[in-house]
Amino acid sequence: MSKLVIIGGGGAGLTAALTAKKTNRKVDVTIITERELSYSACALPFVISGEIGKLEDIYESMELICSKSNIGCIIDAATSVDTGKKIVKTAKNGSFSYDSLIIATGGMPAKPPVKGVNLENIFTLCSVEDARSIMEKVDNSKNAVVIGGGAIGIEAAVALVDLGLSVTLIEGFDHVLCRFFDPEYLEIIEDRLKEKKVELVLGHFVEEIVGEKEVVSVKVAGKEIPADLIIMATGVRPNSKIAEDAGIETLKCGIKTDWLMQTSIKDVYAAGDCAYSKSMITGKLMLSQLGTTAVRHGTVVGMNAVGETVAFEGVLGSMALKIFDFEVGRTGLTESDAKVEGIDVVSGRVKHTTKAKYYPGHKEIDMKLIFNIVDRRIIGGQVIGGETVAKEVDLLALAIAQQATIEDLIGLGYSYTPPLAPSHNIVVLAAENAHRKIMRLEKMRKKKC
Ligand SMILES: Cc1cc2nc3c(=O)[nH]c(=O)nc-3n(C[C@H](O)[C@H](O)[C@H](O)COP(=O)(O)OP(=O)(O)OC[C@H]3O[C@@H](n4cnc5c(N)ncnc54)[C@H](O)[C@@H]3O)c2cc1C
Repeated sequence: MSKLVIIGGGGAGLTAALTAKKTNRKVDVTIITERELSYSACALPFVISGEIGKLEDIYESMELICSKSNIGCIIDAATSVDTGKKIVKTAKNGSFSYDSLIIATGGMPAKPPVKGVNLENIFTLCSVEDARSIMEKVDNSKNAVVIGGGAIGIEAAVALVDLGLSVTLIEGFDHVLCRFFDPEYLEIIEDRLKEKKVELVLGHFVEEIVGEKEVVSVKVAGKEIPADLIIMATGVRPNSKIAEDAGIETLKCGIKTDWLMQTSIKDVYAAGDCAYSKSMITGKLMLSQLGTTAVRHGTVVGMNAVGETVAFEGVLGSMALKIFDFEVGRTGLTESDAKVEGIDVVSGRVKHTTKAKYYPGHKEIDMKLIFNIVDRRIIGGQVIGGETVAKEVDLLALAIAQQATIEDLIGLGYSYTPPLAPSHNIVVLAAENAHRKIMRLEKMRKKKC
């Protein structure tokens, strides 16, 4: 019987195991994972805020999940891979031979090299244990500092405000979420945070964390901010050492993979936060450390490792985020990204309502679409508003993947009923806005000729 070994039982590893079993029941599948519990880290901020009743609601036993699907489960740390002999060794002296191997070791929270970074009551937010420690400390805290203005930092700040703490969010770049949105949306997002009393310190890196045993304050931008607890949300470093040590090709930030998610060594695949993906738009290798990417990687490698040939289609960096009662989402390239890539673009932006504007309870929504001016194909979209943002982002992601043009989107056959959706669709309106801009540009060009 052919043997598949998977290192790591997170979203990527577990999906790979379940997919492999569904694809070929005869394959002997074993997961080696350090964690006894299976859970989605994405749920952690909402357990801390109290929106999800208790921590136990988000996890299940790894062994139980595996036994239901006839998958072997070894709770242990893989320590080395011999790709010649096709053997994985573990910390508890285990030795596992394989025909195919999947490395799905995820990432580790990165901590900046700042003085005081190892004081007590400084937490990362990646695991159930992190969330438990934060929840214990929150009960006797007044002031919290979140370092890092990416999605996890913002979710952490929102949770702490909801719990009644005074929260300062520090971001070294000039804006929160600066890799994800264009400036006009970043300002709106930051205003929403300020309205809810999140104190923002932008464009300054933390100079020092002050305290003797426990953290007391944070020095930044010439100020000293009191802190009973700090959440470090300063990025995730791919956990690629085991691959590197085995002679598998790694780049600066993770394991290099090809179109099948196979590494530089035959029969060894990589998936999830530890692996590079290809951008669906530029074709360049990039990190896409998202749960959605981990699941898709897992599905692809789970099939390929048992004999199928499935191409990984690439990533768009689609994401959605809830900031109090406000939703934000994006997919593909921003206008700023496009500039860096040397792509000339035209954008269309529209503000609209989520239901008919006379229907009680409708909310506002604001969408920007970005098109390549040469072929008029959509390459990116950003959406912010009161509701339905994630669903709009998904539609735009499909449009990008299908290389839809402005005209395709204008012709979208959408649905309408006052309590659910307005008579004019926001995607169509934004595409029409971009279309008018192109028409104007073309007229001007003709006049010049
Ligand atoms: C707070 C938070 C919120 C998030 N929210 C979202 C969200 O809303 N949407 C979204 O798309 N993404 C979100 N993400 C990102 C998403 O959770 C990750 O991209 C995803 O979990 C990565 O899955 P993975 O399987 O690659 O890694 P992981 O889930 O980290 O799993 C890797 C596993 O491998 C194990 N392992 C590592 N090394 C070894 C070894 N040598 N031997 C054995 N086992 C090993 C680890 O213990 C771990 O269990 C969030 C992340 C965090 C932290």
